[in-house]
Amino acid sequence: TDITELLLSRIRDVADYPEPGVMFKDITPLLADPEAFAVLTDALAEVARATGATKVVGLEARGFILGAPVALRAGLGFIPVRKAGKLPGATLSQAYDLEYGSAEIEVHAEDLTAGDRVLVVDDVLATGGTAEASLELIRRAGAEVAGLAVLMELGFLGGRARLEPALAGAPLKAL
Ligand code: IMP
Repeated sequence: TDITELLLSRIRDVADYPEPGVMFKDITPLLADPEAFAVLTDALAEVARATGATKVVGLEARGFILGAPVALRAGLGFIPVRKAGKLPGATLSQAYDLEYGSAEIEVHAEDLTAGDRVLVVDDVLATGGTAEASLELIRRAGAEVAGLAVLMELGFLGGRARLEPALAGAPLKAL
């Protein structure tokens, strides 16, 4: 569609970043283009509306840049899921495996409660490890997963299949 073409035209492929053999998808040209950024924000806000979300979770760091305007546009609260050690209040944390080593993400425990329906927003779905951990965190907080919305899915990495159990029927929308 026209929207897909516009968004794709504003994403830059960077070879061998952050390490040799990786083709990094750089969204900074899209963020710098107010028309494309608005189109993206509107499309993600429409996903929030369609899924009946009551809150938007953004995943550090680019999920903050996309998730915050989406939350505002949809009239919903924005909740940051951060890397471990960054949130000052009482947190729930979730560890997950990386290709080499592991990582940990956190959310303020009081930000998510029973009755919340949460849409998770991020820029790129790669292996799905980060998103999977965030869905686990949301459920452990007692909230419901409304869905996962990303700008871009790197299909060859199999994230969608990996996320099937964690999504438990909730939609995964990749623009
Ligand atoms: P995953 O956990 O393997 O799915 O990796 C997803 C996380 O890594 C997301 O938070 C993305 O922001 C980031 N990421 C992975 N690959 C890329 C890329 O090519 N461009 C931008 N971000 C990426």
